[in-house]
Amino acid sequence: MKIAVFGTKPYDREYLNRANQQYAFQLDYFKVRLNEETRELARGHDAVCVFVNDILNQPVLETMADAGVRLIALRCAGFNNVDLSLADKLGIKVARVPAYSPEAVAEYTLALILTLNRKTHKAWNRIREGNFSLNGLLGFNMTGKTAGVVGLGRIGLATAKLLQGFDMNVIAYDPFPDEVAIKAAGIKTVPLHELYHHADIITLHCPLTDSTFHMIDAEALESMKPGAMLINTSRGALIDTQAAIRSLKAEHLGYLGIDVYEQEGDLFFEDLSEQIIQDDIIQRLQSFPNVLITGHQGFFTREALTAIAETTLTNIHEFAET
Ligand code: NAD
Repeated sequence: MKIAVFGTKPYDREYLNRANQQYAFQLDYFKVRLNEETRELARGHDAVCVFVNDILNQPVLETMADAGVRLIALRCAGFNNVDLSLADKLGIKVARVPAYSPEAVAEYTLALILTLNRKTHKAWNRIREGNFSLNGLLGFNMTGKTAGVVGLGRIGLATAKLLQGFDMNVIAYDPFPDEVAIKAAGIKTVPLHELYHHADIITLHCPLTDSTFHMIDAEALESMKPGAMLINTSRGALIDTQAAIRSLKAEHLGYLGIDVYEQEGDLFFEDLSEQIIQDDIIQRLQSFPNVLITGHQGFFTREALTAIAETTLTNIHEFAET
């Protein structure tokens, strides 16, 4: 099998090469993302290996079919960037990595919560300047407070369990609850408006769909406790960012921690060491001392990268065997 790997970062190459030791596929790495401009690079390959920001629309898929590409191997869980029905019509199979490491994202969610609460990022910056003052660094005990988990799937459940480890009262909302898992974890499910009303920390773990787009709008923010903390490690467009900015400005929303951003597009996937990216809304968010933004790194652990690489190549191997 000859595989064209698009949007390659140095870590993709490292982990895929290691996982490929048992298969010895020909992996041709391209730094560019797969889209209409770069699609010709796929010629001469049996499969393309892509990530969330490669675009597999009609022109690209038609070129794939013409070039003899028979498999799209996604090295991620989401597949909203692939026209699945057209791929099916063209006889191109699509494989993905459904669950590489819920713990990686759950643990990162806790990192955002703890950092925002105890302000270790600010303390570190101060101490580098020789300033050991505690001014403005006051936090709160999480023990005994209420955490609201929106979406109790793989990552939501793993996050809920970590929050329980802090002796928090964990409540959750999920329209399609896995009753057995929820009961086993001892989590109370509540209607969404109740969750907003009672939670001191709200963390989002549901997918981005038509019905969850901007689910955190002005009204949802208004119904949250004054001073509540909102965390999003799922998809940026779950939050109406302008409404969140207004709520921060009105000092109603107490803290905002986001690993994903509404307009993230290419932004969070570029290598910032090569390019400084200016974004007005990000700059606006950064002007609030109680906001923490990171660049979609929740998944970024050694274990998750190993699982992504191994599952991607197992998918390709299984395809080759059929
Ligand atoms: P999952 O499919 O296991 O769980 C999603 C849960 O959300 C399901 O239980 C589903 O019933 C629930 N849900 C659906 N609609 C809902 C709604 N309207 N309100 C509340 N809950 C709803 O998915 P997962 O693996 O736990 O991933 C969750 C999210 O994390 C995904 O959106 C994914 O994009 C994101 N993610 C982020 C990173 C990162 O690096 N930051 C990495 C991986 C995944």
